[in-house]
Formats: sequence, structure tokens, C-alpha cells
Amino acid sequence: MTKLSADNVKRINALKTLLNLSAKEVKLLKTATQIKKATINLKGKKYQAFRVVYNRALGPGKGGIRFHQDVNEEEVTSLSFWMTIKNSLADIPYGGGKGGVRINPKNLTEIEKETLSREYIRKFYKFLGQDKDIPAPDVYTNSQVMSWMLDEFEKKTQRHEPGMITGKPVELGGLLMRQDATAKGAYIVIKEVIKKNFKSKKPSFVIQGFGNAGSYLAQLLSKDGYKILAVSDSKGGIYNRNGLNIKTLVDIKSKGKSVVDYNDGEKISGEEILELDTDILALAALGDQVTKKNANNIKAKYILELANGPVSEEADKILFNKNTMVVPDILANSGGVIVSYFEWSQNKTGNVLDNSYLEKLLETKMKNNLQKVYNQYLVKDKKIDLRTAAYMIAVKKILATEKLRGNL
Ligand code: NAD
Repeated sequence: MTKLSADNVKRINALKTLLNLSAKEVKLLKTATQIKKATINLKGKKYQAFRVVYNRALGPGKGGIRFHQDVNEEEVTSLSFWMTIKNSLADIPYGGGKGGVRINPKNLTEIEKETLSREYIRKFYKFLGQDKDIPAPDVYTNSQVMSWMLDEFEKKTQRHEPGMITGKPVELGGLLMRQDATAKGAYIVIKEVIKKNFKSKKPSFVIQGFGNAGSYLAQLLSKDGYKILAVSDSKGGIYNRNGLNIKTLVDIKSKGKSVVDYNDGEKISGEEILELDTDILALAALGDQVTKKNANNIKAKYILELANGPVSEEADKILFNKNTMVVPDILANSGGVIVSYFEWSQNKTGNVLDNSYLEKLLETKMKNNLQKVYNQYLVKDKKIDLRTAAYMIAVKKILATEKLRGNL
């Protein structure tokens, strides 16, 4: 029984026709290689924990660990499938992985978070390692969580191995540029899309989610003079059609408050923000935000996915039919994992690479990846969306590798 979400099963089925896949290839694509589960005891309660490696054709597992109350086996499996596709598309030597604990992190003290992080590693360390499966931060996990996890791993295995996890602080072998890498990658991609599609006008933006990905994207855009009409977080949204002051919003958030505490704008709901009149809608919060229920009401002509899976499979079809271009997650948010790859290779070799060189490398990679996807879209006469084009490229490469390995 596949543990993949129904949306992903539908997407693979669509590829079957486009790429003329055999039943064996489809089965391989729908099956996770390794699903590990554990129960973590914390504060006298039990919490489910998962680590999934979806595919290893191109290299070790790679993908974040999230602490969230909605984590479940199907979600982790689907996220690890997306990581497999994303890593293949990005041309980095990884398979795909993901992990998570089903827990509300907002109810945890720092000490409890540390205990949870260490306990996660005690449960899964045998399956992790720089050449096995390499975790990273995800929703509600950060560089401090990575530090505890690295420390616990090294205690259990009795050896130094910083490449077993990425997104670490600089002191432990991390890269300064990891912090805003996802936003930067998305920014590089959307600027190319703007170059291709907006002649002289500077398009306007609305951003859902004002955490790591969303707030850094807002800062990069605002620095370059783009107008951001609205932003939201879990408490709601704020809108000003003349544009928001992003610096003020960042200050407000740094004090632990919400974007709705911003004074110079109109408060709007989390649902309304998605349907505002804007050129580009950036989704940087959670999955399944644009679905068949609201896809017809979306006014933006471009959607930039920083979150994983924010547009459902049914919504994809509706948006495509009304000429809304979705720049898909597996392309747009891959800056984070690309910089994780820089960190991992540096940890493995012991070489220290210059930051400006790595910044340039990120830019080149993001531009090349977009161009590859765009070329595939043109080859198909614009009759498929960018997500399908990206999947076609990534899946072809995974299957070719599996064939070479003799697994197909
Ligand atoms: P984060 O925890 O830093 O921020 C999440 C933000 O979303 C917060 O501002 C939160 O208030 C907001 N939010 C939660 N529910 C919301 C709702 N219903 N409406 C509007 N906003 C809501 O997380 P992040 O690192 O910024 O990640 C955001 C998304 O991007 C996630 O889907 C994550 O998987 C994806 N992503 C992040 C990275 C990365 O490097 N940070 C890389 C790839 C993908």
C-alpha cells in the first residue's frame, strides 16, 4: 500500500502517459524505499515520529525534520517524495528524505525542545549519516535544533561527522548564507520570470507566511523596490494597496508579535489575502492553501511556491486553464537544499569555500534549473504547466539512474 498522498499519486499517473512509463517504473515512483517510525515519550506523553527515505538512486536521503501537530506518515512520505524530485531537478547528488514529530512545538519550553531533538536522534541515528540520510531544518526546527541533533548523533556514534545534518550554525560547520537561501533562490527565479513576462512594469506582490522563507523574500523584494501589498502569518493578514513597510514588519515580528499588529494597513483574513488583486502571489506558509475551493477566485497571474505543496493538484488544473502560471515548489524553493549541499560538501571535504563564490553558484544553479524547466514547457508547446515540466525532467533522470543500477 502506497503511503503517498492522493495528489501525488495523480501526478505520477499523469506522468505515466507523458513519459510513456512502464508499470514497473510507475510502481517504483509510487513506493518509498524506507519508512521508519518511533514513539517519543516527553512530559509523560507519547508522540509519533517518522523518518522516510523515498529514493536513493541519486545519492543519500536528504530532507528536513519538522515539529508540527499535523505531521503524519502520509505527509512525511509525500514531503520525502517531493525532496526526491527537487534534488533530481536541482542536479545535486541526493535522493529524497524527510522526517517529523507529531507535536505542537508552541507548547514546548527550550529544554523540552532539546530533549525532543535528542530523543529523535536516539530513535533514528542508525539510519542517519552523511552517506546515508542527511536531515535539515523544516517547519519549527532551526539551527539550534540541528546543533542538539548533531551533538546527540556524535555522542551515539562516537565520531565527528558534521556532514550528517545541514542548516547548522556557522560555529558547527554551517554556512552563513543558509539562513535566507530559500528566499534568495526563489527571488532569483521570480526575477527571471519577471524578465520574461513583465516588460517595463515592476509587478506587485502579496506574500502568505512571514517566517523564514516569507520574511526574507519580502526583504529582498522591498530592497529592490518591489511593492508588497499584503502579508500574513498564522494570526491573519495586513493590506495596504500603496505598499507595506517591510522593515517595520520585520521589527514587529522580531518582538514576537504578529503582522496584524502593523498599524498602517487594513486587517484582512488569511483567506482574503490569497484572493487580492496583485500580479504575483507568493505562498510561504503551509501546504494546500490554494485548492479547488478558491482557485477560481485567485486574481494573481503568477504564483510563486516557497512552501511545499501549497497548490493542490485540482487547483493546478483550474489555474492552468485560466492562464495563471505557478512557479512550482520543487523549483522555486530549492535554494535551501542547494545551499545545504554546499554545506555538506564543505563538511565532507574539509575545504572552505568563499562565500561570494557560493552565492554566484547558487544564482547560476537557480537560473539553469528554471531554464531547463522553461525549455521543457516550450518543447511541450506550453500545453503543460511548469510543475509537470519540472517533474518530467526530474523523473526521467531518476529512472535513467535506476536503469543503470539494474533496478528496472
Ligand atoms: P517558518 O516556521 O519560519 O514560518 C512559517 C510562517 O507561516 C509563519 O510566519 C507562520 O505564522 C505562517 N503561517 C502559519 N500558518 C499560516 C496561515 N494559515 N496563514 C498564513 N501564514 C501562516 O517556516 P519557513 O521555514 O518559512 O517555511 C515556510 C514554508 O516553506 C514551509 O512549507 C516549508 O516547508 C517551506 N520551505 C522552507 C524552507 C526553508 O529553508 N525555510 C525550504 C524549503 C521549503
